[in-house]
Amino acid sequence: MKLKGKVALVTGAASGIGRQAALALAREGAAVLATDVDESGGAQTLDSIRKAGGEALFRPHDVKSEEQWADAVATALEAFGRLDILVNNAGIGSGQLVTEMSLDSWNNLVAVNLTGVFLGCKHAIPAMRAGRAGGSIVNISSVAGLEGAAGLAGYCATKGGVRLFTKAVAKEYAADGIRCNSVHPGIIDTPIWTRIDEGGLAGTREQLGTPAGANAIAVDAIAMLAPLQRPGLPEEIANGIVFLASDDSSYMTGSELVIDGGMSA
Ligand code: NAP
Repeated sequence: MKLKGKVALVTGAASGIGRQAALALAREGAAVLATDVDESGGAQTLDSIRKAGGEALFRPHDVKSEEQWADAVATALEAFGRLDILVNNAGIGSGQLVTEMSLDSWNNLVAVNLTGVFLGCKHAIPAMRAGRAGGSIVNISSVAGLEGAAGLAGYCATKGGVRLFTKAVAKEYAADGIRCNSVHPGIIDTPIWTRIDEGGLAGTREQLGTPAGANAIAVDAIAMLAPLQRPGLPEEIANGIVFLASDDSSYMTGSELVIDGGMSA
């Protein structure tokens, strides 16, 4: 119970990495406010946490909305009395080659993946400071925030932005005892891949020589390039998130935790 007495807010908690992070944080004793735009998935996450004996609430929350961020942080404070941990996890994949990407798609990608992280920090940090016990912010970037990938230029731009934004926040709020680190998953087996437009993987498929068709073909082929030769599990990313959220990582801030089966090695 590494996180007993702590309160965590996890975005994108209705699915994939966010759901497993919410479950793992609750298992370690944190009270969790799970948020997402997907209310039915959020209800399932809540049910799983409660069945395992954890304490949690779910609130609908679009990370693009500043008003909804203010409400989410206020809910955490009202329900649980404090806020110690923020996991900025909600994110979407990108679907187009640069020359085929509409400005609307670009703007939406930036709004969810990058502006959402900014708004989360903007609203959670004052609550953490008010508690005078410091805090830990975990921003979910990607290996695509460390290296470019054909077909994922917009996504790479947002995730690279999250990487450096994290380092700047770490420097700005270290004096308040607030740590801020990024996590860089490789290819993880979650529904995000089924939501990416086929066109978004075209460049990657071309590089790998894999045929057009289901995204899963390209995803498995990319995962096989990692030394560990398999996609990662969302639970394996959740383990890293718990580590960064807890005092086990007390001397880490502004760091990048890469969990990618060796892909970027
Ligand atoms: P996922 O299974 O698709 O889960 C993402 C969740 O975020 C979904 O429930 C989604 O809801 C929600 N969401 C989307 N837009 C939102 C918004 N505007 N506000 C609030 N919630 C929103 O994806 P995942 O693989 O777990 O991804 C989690 C994070 O890890 C993302 O930041 C992703 O970029 C990052 N990541 C994933 C991988 C991977 O291979 N899976 C690799 C590197 C990094 P809807 O279903 O309704 O859209």
